[in-house]
Amino acid sequence: MHPRDFHIDTQVIHAGQKPEPVTGAVMPPIFTSSTYAQKSPGEHSGFEYSRSHNPTRYALERMVARLEGSKLTEGQDVSFGGFAFSSGLAAMDCVCELLTAGDEVVCMDDVYGGTYRQFARVRARSQGLKVKYTDLTDLPKAGAAIGPATKLVWVETPTNPLLKIVDLAGIAAIARRQAPQALLVCDNTFATPVTQRPLDHGFDIAHHSATKYLGGHSDVVGGLLVTANAEIAARLRFHQNAVGAVMGPFDAYLVLRGIKTLALRMRRHSENAMKIGAWLEKQKAVERVIYPGLPSHPQHALAKKQTLPGMGFSGMITFFTRGGLAECRRFLESVRLFTLAESLGGVESLVDHPAIMTHASVPAEQRAALGISDTLIRLSVGIEDADDLIADLDQALRAAVR
Ligand code: PLP
Repeated sequence: MHPRDFHIDTQVIHAGQKPEPVTGAVMPPIFTSSTYAQKSPGEHSGFEYSRSHNPTRYALERMVARLEGSKLTEGQDVSFGGFAFSSGLAAMDCVCELLTAGDEVVCMDDVYGGTYRQFARVRARSQGLKVKYTDLTDLPKAGAAIGPATKLVWVETPTNPLLKIVDLAGIAAIARRQAPQALLVCDNTFATPVTQRPLDHGFDIAHHSATKYLGGHSDVVGGLLVTANAEIAARLRFHQNAVGAVMGPFDAYLVLRGIKTLALRMRRHSENAMKIGAWLEKQKAVERVIYPGLPSHPQHALAKKQTLPGMGFSGMITFFTRGGLAECRRFLESVRLFTLAESLGGVESLVDHPAIMTHASVPAEQRAALGISDTLIRLSVGIEDADDLIADLDQALRAAVR
């Protein structure tokens, strides 16, 4: 049976997995060996050197490849088109290495600050990439930006931190028509493959910061790429090894372990976020709430259409407090159960101030144009009891906005 024939709760336990062939271990052992014995020069059993081949990393890569919907066989790619890296940004780095100096990139205007920083402050200089930042939620604008010179379209949806929804099928249709050579990449970190599968909508590569929901416990940093296209998989395989920012075996084990509960966790993250989002909308101290699961989200219908049924809308909420930076800062200093910290997607609830923290590398004018103001707060809602989380937000809002 193909993994896609099983329900999602079964897929996250079994997709791409089989017991370890020597011992029958149900969970893959953490293979720490950096090198493998050869019978004769160049004669090995598929494992030569751990940057190139690692069984623990393969187990994770195969799992995520199947979850993202790749049907590649082992003959087409040893890990079915999944590739694990030392961080989400290292995975992005590998995608950029597929491009040639001077290539044009069209990038969603609202993306993680580190994504922006890599394009704007590294790749523009080192590789001469010409990056056009465009609001890709607006299909006519996307149509005007994407053209024959475009070699990469980089989308994030829902976006960080404004939770905008990009119509993946719409962008793929435009790009196939106007830029058939372009690689289409979707950063699927906020949604995860249990709620959204970019490859199903015509994208070439799904990208993840595995540090977030896939790992799920704020105890590992990692990145992943998945493609269902054998030719792109061959290029990624070459570059993953040639550039070398691979995920280590301990980290691969941790992320794989995290994924086993991904479906359970995402349901709970979503349930809690729906409850908290609806509550926040009723608070006087709150000016506006952005959550794709709420009918008030301007793209709620698209979010529903693009999200796998029954999995909710993930655990990220953005809202604006009334007042200014002083009130906002008081709120952030007053939370007790939420932790003020960068990152997201762990079992524990976190709160972030994007303008000062995660998105400080986006220039102030661009932040202002996007609406990432000093009163914007991003919540990563964990899997604690929703009422306890609401009580914490309630006391912090009361302390902040008097
Ligand atoms: N993409 C998104 C949406 C993120 O939020 C992050 C990190 O916060 C990244 C990519 C980068 O991932 P990493 O921190 O694992 O390098």
